Amino acid sequence: MSYVVLAKTGEKLDVGKIVAAGQNYADHTKEMGAEKPSAPVLFMKPSTSIIHAGDPIVYPSVTNLLHHEVELGIVISRDCRDIEPVDAPAHMLGYLLALDLTLRDVQLAAKKRGHPWATAKGFDGSCPISEAIEIDNPSVLRTLELGLVVNDETRQQGNTADMVWTSEELLAAASGFFTLERGDILLTGTPAGVGPLERGDTVEAWLGEELRVWFNVV
Ligand code: MG
Repeated sequence: MSYVVLAKTGEKLDVGKIVAAGQNYADHTKEMGAEKPSAPVLFMKPSTSIIHAGDPIVYPSVTNLLHHEVELGIVISRDCRDIEPVDAPAHMLGYLLALDLTLRDVQLAAKKRGHPWATAKGFDGSCPISEAIEIDNPSVLRTLELGLVVNDETRQQGNTADMVWTSEELLAAASGFFTLERGDILLTGTPAGVGPLERGDTVEAWLGEELRVWFNVV
């Protein structure tokens, strides 16, 4: 079973699923050539997509264009279904840094044909995560700096203040479709600057003051 580690206690929680939002930063939506969506764009990654900080990112043999996307993730504290944004904070246990790794060539081909993104977004190892920091006050989620460096070159730098939909709004929207269970993770989208990873790259990413992770691409 895949798990997430709570930083303070070291407790491991089972992760059932990962629900992710696409196109949630205007600058990234623009760089992808997409229209601003009128509702959150949601997709899923299976729990088998999880790897942990320090694990190798294994370059999949099924792609020639593996892209990085650095994101704020929310760990769910207790089960919820069809809740309102105002009730979302009561269901947030912690936040973490996640990479929503994407097979961009596979995704672009799928978009062109109107096919699903499941393989492009949900392949094994497509969700590297940090430990989770417990959320005492959900307002901290609104102004977290996040960024990503590849081999000392800054690729992504953003702030969660620029999210189109807030974490609370995304959680509520996701709960309209899926029962969110304790340990599930909600990914909140990536700022601009997504780009390719190659075998041999070193990736460093950060979120807020407390989370900084490294990965090697092999
Ligand atoms: Mg993403």
